[in-house]
Amino acid sequence: MELENGMVFETKEVLLNVVKDVHIANHLEMKVVRSNSESLKVECKRKEIGCVCMLRSRKRKSHNYFEIMETKGPHTCLNPNMKHDHCNLKSSNIAQVIVIQIVADPGVSDKVSEATFVSHFGYRPSRRKIRHVRKKLEKKLFKSFEESYEYLPFFMNALQSFNHGTHVDWHFKEHDLGLPIAEVARFKRVFWAFKPRIDCNALEFLTCKLLPEYD
Ligand SMILES: [Zn+2]
Repeated sequence: MELENGMVFETKEVLLNVVKDVHIANHLEMKVVRSNSESLKVECKRKEIGCVCMLRSRKRKSHNYFEIMETKGPHTCLNPNMKHDHCNLKSSNIAQVIVIQIVADPGVSDKVSEATFVSHFGYRPSRRKIRHVRKKLEKKLFKSFEESYEYLPFFMNALQSFNHGTHVDWHFKEHDLGLPIAEVARFKRVFWAFKPRIDCNALEFLTCKLLPEYD
């Protein structure tokens, strides 16, 4: 995507994200030199070695959007060999990529997360960065998991009340360990089956049982 004068963006944050994406995809780095409610200015991070690339934007009163007022470029500091980290790769970029993995498998290793990230962006973020993002994600995700467990008994009761004959089978970690189920138990999984399915299974079972006898 080319950023040109006259392009408009709903907010400064949207514009900044687009600028970052363009830079990350092209192995370039930029820094914000001015940011307030009315304007945004970014420059090449390697300005000191002569790269004059910059972008200046202002919130226009005529349409209330952020409009690109001035651009200079292209970058003369292209660094296609950059493979390690990137100053514009923020926690949100990392979170976006690894969140699905953590939900699917909370035990996934940092190494696997890192490999996923490298194949997605082409950069290797520092392990410290990954661990930091992961900690934040886990706190957010698992807190919401715990809250949803609290709703589960109510949900299953409602399911049984409105669907008579529904069978619910709770399984706790204590079952695996052969321990008695105390007042507080560690949830592992829950199965449920609606009555029509149970009736159907019973019929299939009877048919299977009867068939050998007819043979
Ligand atoms: Zn540059």
